[in-house]
Amino acid sequence: MATIFTKIINGEIPSYKIAEDDNFYAFLDINPLAKGHSLVVPKKEVDYLFDLDDDTLGGLHVFAKKIAKAIEKSVPCKRIGTTVIGLEVPHAHLHLIPINGITDMNFERPKLKLNENEFKELLEQIRTNL
Ligand code: 5GP
Repeated sequence: MATIFTKIINGEIPSYKIAEDDNFYAFLDINPLAKGHSLVVPKKEVDYLFDLDDDTLGGLHVFAKKIAKAIEKSVPCKRIGTTVIGLEVPHAHLHLIPINGITDMNFERPKLKLNENEFKELLEQIRTNL
């Protein structure tokens, strides 16, 4: 069965899409740890990041770089932290999270509740900074 991220990539489930190319897709996390928290996924459906072929693994990070730079320009933060969890959605993805300190990467913290306008404004800003 297709993962929720494949359904997002195929447009069957809506997302706040930042960018895509032939192989990768970036969008805002719906339950963000911080404003600008985004996910970058390969279109190829592989569960575990380290099972990706080398080109896809490398390409994912290169694609993530330009997304991270755009987020960094859009949200006040020291830098963009990146992590891989993958315990919820079995489709390899990088989390890109604007951070000011180590605790900002703690996934046990409560998630932000953003309304649609807040998501859209954030998206617009990030897309402008791409
Ligand atoms: P992980 O698999 O890395 O443990 O967590 C999956 C991440 O995907 C979570 O941060 C969760 O908020 C996000 N997520 C799960 N379902 C959706 C969805 O339908 N849309 C978006 N934008 N993010 C999702």
